Amino acid sequence: MSDSSNMIEIRNLHKSYGDIEVIKGVDLNVKQGEVVVILGPSGSGKSTVLRCINRLEEITSGTIVVDGFDLYAKETDINYVRSEAGMVFQQFNLFPHLSVLQNITIGLIKVRKMDKAEADKIALSLLDKVGLPDKATAYPDQLSGGQKQRVAIARSLAMNPKVILFDEPTSALDPELVGEVLDVMKNLADEGMTMVVVTHEMGFAREVADRVIFIADGVIQEEAAPDEFFSNPKHPRLKDFLGKL
Ligand code: ADP
Ligand code: MG
Repeated sequence: MSDSSNMIEIRNLHKSYGDIEVIKGVDLNVKQGEVVVILGPSGSGKSTVLRCINRLEEITSGTIVVDGFDLYAKETDINYVRSEAGMVFQQFNLFPHLSVLQNITIGLIKVRKMDKAEADKIALSLLDKVGLPDKATAYPDQLSGGQKQRVAIARSLAMNPKVILFDEPTSALDPELVGEVLDVMKNLADEGMTMVVVTHEMGFAREVADRVIFIADGVIQEEAAPDEFFSNPKHPRLKDFLGKL
């Protein structure tokens, strides 16, 4: 049954690449304003699940509803729905030939047809929000990894998404730059943004997540509030995973 307090509803999701099934029946609800952290070993299907929520993949079966829109229904306008769910990638994916400001405004101008002055205004306020008020005219290769990722977050926020999906946003960063990105994410969570975060940052999971999910072998093996999840893991695969950290 559909529940309107759910921002994301995933039902019995299956996804195969060729003959290989990598997602084998995932059910997941994410409520509005909730922060869900997904943990799991490499290759377990974490990125695939996120990509399905943004329809960067075709699914094999199941349903995904985001903000009331069935993502894979024929009548759904994919560009509209994709702009409801922003995505932040490990490798930032900024356009190298565009300035920071242009990276943030391009979606507003090209997709939303906003005029440049209005788009610039939004971009500048978002740069302020992510702590980079003086980087508007810089180019991506002049920024540190942490700064690039904060620009990528600002770019995602510019589209005013209902949900942001983060796929290992700090995994490509030098350790001393991880904190500045996690701080921005923490602020977003405090402001009530709905977030699904794949990360290996256990401190973030403990402190910020409402719920932590462990995926292994393409299914959710365990799911609990952070205290319970970390202090009382039940599944042997999860105990093993946490033991290796
Ligand atoms: P994770 O993010 O948990 O490391 P992924 O979702 O990236 O895992 O991958 C899950 C499985 O699907 C892996 O075995 C991976 O090799 C496979 N896979 C991912 N993307 C593709 C693709 N485009 N084509 C074929 N196999 C893929
Ligand atoms: Mg991945």
